[in-house]
Amino acid sequence: MTDLSGVPVRTVATARPVLRERGQREVFCGLTSIVWLHRKMQDAFFLVVGSRTCAHLLQSAAGVMIFAEPRFGTAILTDRDLAGLADANDELDRICLALLARRPDITTLFLVGSCPSEVIKLDLAKAAERLNARLLPRVRVLNYSGSGIETTFTQGEDGALKALVPLLPATDAQQLLVVGALADVVEDQLRRVFDALGIGPVAFLPARRAADLPAVGPRTAVLAAQPFNGDTIRALTARGAHVLSAPYPFGAEGTTAWLAAAAAEFKVDARTFLRVTQPLADRAQRALARYRLQLADKRVFFLPDSQLEIPLARFVHRELGMRLTEVGTPYLDRQMLAGELPLLPDDVQLSEGQHLDRQLDRVRAERPDLTVCGLGLANPLEAEGLATKWSIELVFTPIHGYEQAGDLAEVFARPLHRRAVLSAPRVATASAPEVACS
Ligand code: SF4
Repeated sequence: MTDLSGVPVRTVATARPVLRERGQREVFCGLTSIVWLHRKMQDAFFLVVGSRTCAHLLQSAAGVMIFAEPRFGTAILTDRDLAGLADANDELDRICLALLARRPDITTLFLVGSCPSEVIKLDLAKAAERLNARLLPRVRVLNYSGSGIETTFTQGEDGALKALVPLLPATDAQQLLVVGALADVVEDQLRRVFDALGIGPVAFLPARRAADLPAVGPRTAVLAAQPFNGDTIRALTARGAHVLSAPYPFGAEGTTAWLAAAAAEFKVDARTFLRVTQPLADRAQRALARYRLQLADKRVFFLPDSQLEIPLARFVHRELGMRLTEVGTPYLDRQMLAGELPLLPDDVQLSEGQHLDRQLDRVRAERPDLTVCGLGLANPLEAEGLATKWSIELVFTPIHGYEQAGDLAEVFARPLHRRAVLSAPRVATASAPEVACS
């Protein structure tokens, strides 16, 4: 059986054995997602209530913004706050009011919890309520947790988007709601495809301006663009929306299947669907062809980090011919992955959670051609002669949709190419002319 996209559909979910692990973890915390969220929502400010460590993490992950007024910052809890000697609530209110007086362009302020604010039980929901009483309607204050105690780095986005859901206006109109932060250029491309298919109106969550909240209601079809926004999706279904199950729009096949789910919902006929998508899919296939030559039969190991692992494993296996040794994910959300799991090969080893030492032992035993892992593991594994790819790069890089299919394949090909160049025997060449630098 196939759907509109031609991707085989298994009607019975395969009960795959999943290795569940609990132990030492190596992942960034949810604060990291501020790096891409503050770029997306241009009228929002993310104020982390945390420590100097939190501030350093953000600053180094986002790069030093010397020339721009940043849309994130850290209210640093000092020893006096931690010891209960200062009233952290008063301090927080003072900082927020001063910030908003200085930045009239900010319409939405996210108070982001951290490990220290959780340890001292600073109630940021109450703080948001208190500030809203003073600031609404000019500014809306929301809160969520980015603490490393309870979140991995992509869960920060889920927390921020879920905090917006109660504010969405209600609607009875039919519409498509795409959920998950996408680069503006990707959002524009997808919107053009939806227009050509006659699918609309289409809204995106988050919107480019946090104040432009999309509506939600019983005739809202939700199409997830990222697999890590499960709590947001469930909050939307509690508001009456229904979810379209589909693979994620990675690669030509994934994008076609993702669009097909929307097309079926909006009753787009098969001829129109093919007319619009086929040329785009063909172009994406051509972009993938040369990477397939490089990557086919190469063995890849995904360590748990971003929650993108399963959709990406499906992409590299089915569209680039890579062999999957193990696919780990920090959290296996079966509802969010219902369109993906049946497309993985039956014999793939899935793992959920992390026990770092055991997982690294398995990587060393397998010696895959490529290991996709967190930043902290890449250098040690490279030093052991293993090629690696930082999984966080796959979150920062635009990788969704037909136009980005080649770029996505390139992300996997680059480390292998670099390693091949470095290990190629040096050929003695005639001495090159010296170039003077001034
Ligand atoms: Fe570290 Fe916790 Fe702050 Fe994240 S929230 S930077 S894990 S202290």
